Amino acid sequence: MTLIHPITQDIFQVRIPVPFPLKYVNCYLFRENNGWTLLDTGLHDEPGLNAWMHVFDVLQISPRDIRRIILTHTHPDHFGLAGYFQNLSNAPVYALDREIETVPVIWRDDAAHVEALSAFFAQHGVPSRVVANIQERSRQLIRWTHPLPQFTPLHENDTVLVGEHHYRVVWTPGHADGHAVLQSANDGLLLAGDMILAKITPNIGLWPQSDPNPLKSYLASLEKVDALHARTALTGHRAVIENVAARIQELRVHHAERAHACWNAARECSAYEIALKTFERLENAEDVRMAVVETLAHLEFLVGEGRAERLEGGVTRYRRTG
Ligand SMILES: [Zn+2]
Repeated sequence: MTLIHPITQDIFQVRIPVPFPLKYVNCYLFRENNGWTLLDTGLHDEPGLNAWMHVFDVLQISPRDIRRIILTHTHPDHFGLAGYFQNLSNAPVYALDREIETVPVIWRDDAAHVEALSAFFAQHGVPSRVVANIQERSRQLIRWTHPLPQFTPLHENDTVLVGEHHYRVVWTPGHADGHAVLQSANDGLLLAGDMILAKITPNIGLWPQSDPNPLKSYLASLEKVDALHARTALTGHRAVIENVAARIQELRVHHAERAHACWNAARECSAYEIALKTFERLENAEDVRMAVVETLAHLEFLVGEGRAERLEGGVTRYRRTG
């Protein structure tokens, strides 16, 4: 499969393989007078690195030509290679200030942190054998993000040069607490990261130490992005989105439907039990991990709306109201 897809003469979408069901993360290269800007990186594993070496070869880029690395958010598939590339290029690595704060919390390589994550899944009803697999997965994900880069913070409404154009930084929490999109003033382009995706929906998850109501934040971010009136969104996975407004409307409907399904299933059940009832297939620990945090985001949204209550105990349960 071809890795490099030209968007314009000077913007290239680069598909880097990731060992997730998503298969690829879309990263972007922006040509400048004397170098390149890199948007998102893929994670730090051998297939990812090999893919980049091939891309650099084809476009005749030396890692020293990377002038800056910009990250939409710090999930492993988007930032795992940032530190590695920074070591090769000395380029600054930019992310939103709020997102940078989360990195030492979420991606530090320490046993206590992974234990706390496992306790969180057990608290929400996940069986211990699955928790053990999730724990192993968490350790692997952390390894794929190292070495961590030295960050340079971006702030909301900053203007940054990306390739030949200036983009405005817009904070869009939900998928990640400090997720940012970049809006071009010139040509209606939106560098969307995982804020909106075609065909699939970005995972909106409640994690320990994350935003306590990420779905509420995400729905507000959808409104914010809608108001930007972008023409084309360059996304972090799957296809480029040409009709941004229509896709935003579909995402609103999706979350309303999923919230309703969670409400319907919440009859003094754990988030794990509700995930089993509302997701079509949960085949492995990774499926369970993502489904449980997504279900929790919807349940906590319902709690916030007064449509469900959280029952604390050995295992946290949710009960619908109204
Ligand atoms: Zn992603």
